[in-house]
Amino acid sequence: MKFVSTLTLLSAAALIVCAEDKPQTTDKKPAVETKNDKTEKVVKTEEEWRKMLTPEQYRVTRTAGTERPFGEAYEEFNKQGEGTYFCVCCGAELFTSKEKFHSGCGWPSFYDTSKAKCVLEKKDTSHGMVRIETVCKRCDAHLGHVFEGEGYATPTNRRFCINAAALKFVAANEKKPELKDLDKAKAEAAEARKKEEAAAK
Ligand SMILES: [Zn+2]
Repeated sequence: MKFVSTLTLLSAAALIVCAEDKPQTTDKKPAVETKNDKTEKVVKTEEEWRKMLTPEQYRVTRTAGTERPFGEAYEEFNKQGEGTYFCVCCGAELFTSKEKFHSGCGWPSFYDTSKAKCVLEKKDTSHGMVRIETVCKRCDAHLGHVFEGEGYATPTNRRFCINAAALKFVAANEKKPELKDLDKAKAEAAEARKKEEAAAK
């Protein structure tokens, strides 16, 4: 019984941490947002997500895509120092640099999620494989997968294999991102699209 109640307490604590770590909403409210449950789900239409995200971010997070390994975003990831990784869609805290490790697989690797516990694990049977998919608890963004028992010398022997495009890095000395309001996000996405197009030329 004691074990059960400790577990209950722990999960309650995790929920509270998740709730507290959520970025503050700004004055301008995003177009659609429901606040009727503890995880304060962020719900938007496909069209709204498309406007907020770059094509690559949209493909990865909203259509369960996979970025190519050793890509540009991954190169950036490798250069990043101490800080926190937030969901690119909704700003929920997902990982920190403390859980980051080098696996050599070509995608960002973490051995655990951050203490905010905003990463949900789901069984994924797509592509003829049985894998554990990881999604953002708050907005259901596809993040990547988690693999176990591969023999990495980490505290958990787990590898969260995450698409760099799904992550927004904020260095330790910088301000946490606020929940994106649609106009600002649209401007950012337009800017990033320009960059992507220029790079593709
Ligand atoms: Zn999210």
